[in-house]
Amino acid sequence: MQTTIQAPITMSGVGVHSGRAVTMTLHPAAADTGILFNRVDIGDDDGFVLAHATNAIETQLCTTIKNNVGTEVRMIEHLMAAFHGLGIDNVIVELNGPEVPILDGSSAAIVESINLVGIMATDSARTYLEILVPVTVELENGAWATLSPAPTLQLDIDIDFTDPGIGKQAFSFDSRDDAFGDEIARARTFCMFKDVEAMRLAGLGKGGSLENALVYDNGTLLNEGGLRMENECVKHKALDCIGDLFLVGMPLKGRLSAHLPGHRLSTLVVKALLADESAYRITTENDAYDIAPSLERTLPLAATA
Ligand SMILES: [Zn+2]
Repeated sequence: MQTTIQAPITMSGVGVHSGRAVTMTLHPAAADTGILFNRVDIGDDDGFVLAHATNAIETQLCTTIKNNVGTEVRMIEHLMAAFHGLGIDNVIVELNGPEVPILDGSSAAIVESINLVGIMATDSARTYLEILVPVTVELENGAWATLSPAPTLQLDIDIDFTDPGIGKQAFSFDSRDDAFGDEIARARTFCMFKDVEAMRLAGLGKGGSLENALVYDNGTLLNEGGLRMENECVKHKALDCIGDLFLVGMPLKGRLSAHLPGHRLSTLVVKALLADESAYRITTENDAYDIAPSLERTLPLAATA
């Protein structure tokens, strides 16, 4: 069955790129709503932007969606990752600004809040987007991504950064075996100190700080508390990928293999998949699908009913 959250959740914070304070309220939503953003500062129908690949615009540093009257919502990926990772199909996300708050740079607070209110089933069957044949996208810098058939959501990704503090890291995820909420959800976004100035000059990263990102300076991690887990950077990339893959509009049955993943690459491969109608099918079959094995452990029993 399709799911939604049991009660509204309000969170406030700063937009990492705009630097503006923003309040976000997640509302339970009916079946077949999908993840629908509502910019209440815009108002009326012009404020609604559906989280779908058809609305995703080309961006490098974060995932941005835009409706047909030009209303944008930026930085949706960590929220989308929490919904995809926890198996939540329908939510209306009210925002009073253009950017989802960065919080601590991970999905941890969102997952905790959702686990507190609980998840409930609607009375409509859940649909999945199942990949039938591999689809590959390559970028100029050697980055590539392939979506291929698999019975569950799976990832196989690697990164390679010049900063020796990050270097090469690889990570695999299978939603049958790995709980999204245990580790990936807590992995924070990261950047290099040398890139911070360039980002600020471009008018971005105004809300960025050591409170919401890992910052590396030539091999040294500047955050006092250190990492939350081994290979936190590539695990954050996994989080980003799980969020971006939810732009297909429903849970994905398939494997993403990616070298040097990023938001541009993952939105392009999702668009390439959806552009080829023979490459996927919509199905309600879910025998092998268990996207959130940790859910029953972390939710109160009543919340799983
Ligand atoms: Zn991210």
